[in-house]
Amino acid sequence: MSRIIALSGGIGGAKLALGLASLLPPEELLIVANTGDDFEHLGLSISPDIDTLTYTLAGLDNPSLGWGRRDETWSFMETLAALGGETWFRLGDRDLALHVERTQRLRAGETLTAVTQRIAARLGIRATLLPMSDDAVRTRIRTPEGWLDFQHWFVREQCRPVVLDVAFDGAAGARANPALLAALRAQPRAIVICPSNPLISVEPILALPGVRDAILGCGAPVLAVSPIIGGQAVKGPTATMLRELGTAPSAAAVAQRYGALLTHYVMESAEDAAGIAPKVIRAPTLMRTLKDKIALARTVLAAL
Ligand code: GDP
Repeated sequence: MSRIIALSGGIGGAKLALGLASLLPPEELLIVANTGDDFEHLGLSISPDIDTLTYTLAGLDNPSLGWGRRDETWSFMETLAALGGETWFRLGDRDLALHVERTQRLRAGETLTAVTQRIAARLGIRATLLPMSDDAVRTRIRTPEGWLDFQHWFVREQCRPVVLDVAFDGAAGARANPALLAALRAQPRAIVICPSNPLISVEPILALPGVRDAILGCGAPVLAVSPIIGGQAVKGPTATMLRELGTAPSAAAVAQRYGALLTHYVMESAEDAAGIAPKVIRAPTLMRTLKDKIALARTVLAAL
């Protein structure tokens, strides 16, 4: 069996992952989620990118918020606020149940992989969804105020502090998910780097020991989709972060960050392709509807 391995963060990545899942037989799709955004909060183990992928693939995502679950209620948050608790990170009632379930199983000794797969199966997801590692990797952001934990910078501080540097604590000593390494050794059909933030969603996966070499060595095409359209991110801090780290945000800038890894790059027809080494495929990359997601996934698969 020859599989497509998709590397994904949360919102942007999940859109293409859903498109791919709509076209491919489930046994031919392996989706690997960034866990650098994971953190412990209110005693709970929270994995934002796994959750966005889970809810999106299960058709349970919240289209108006862009994160969390649909049909959400907020009694927990309201009660916590009334008690003077910490409310900067919002957890809906339904979402909370998932975090409680994950936390309790992790504490009982299950791996994050096992917990992720069990929850995905319970929600009817048929493709394989894996965390990038079962070990803790924690993205941290260096700002003029010092190093901040990722969610403190991203949610509590609303990405306001200027980004001077990004680090993936624990990555060098973490073990990449053995199922990812095995899939890379098993002659995959292709690697797809979803249109996620390269700096905080994809690079943590690539920072795990052995992953970059296994991708380069697997002989399969490696295709990325640009998360930048017209010099802007569709959502989130990708463009601002690139700028603060000294690069003008563009589709080309993202391709250059992935460097020699890429054989194919999908971007909008209006973007400047100067300086992009891999084969460029021009296509509409904005995914508003399910139809858009499937159309882009079809473009990706056709290119491969
Ligand atoms: P996060 O972990 O939730 O921030 O999610 P990702 O890293 O997966 O997604 C953020 C990136 O997705 C941003 O750089 C966005 O520009 C990009 N993105 C979101 N929606 C779209 C879309 O419809 N098309 C493309 N090409 N990129 C998108």
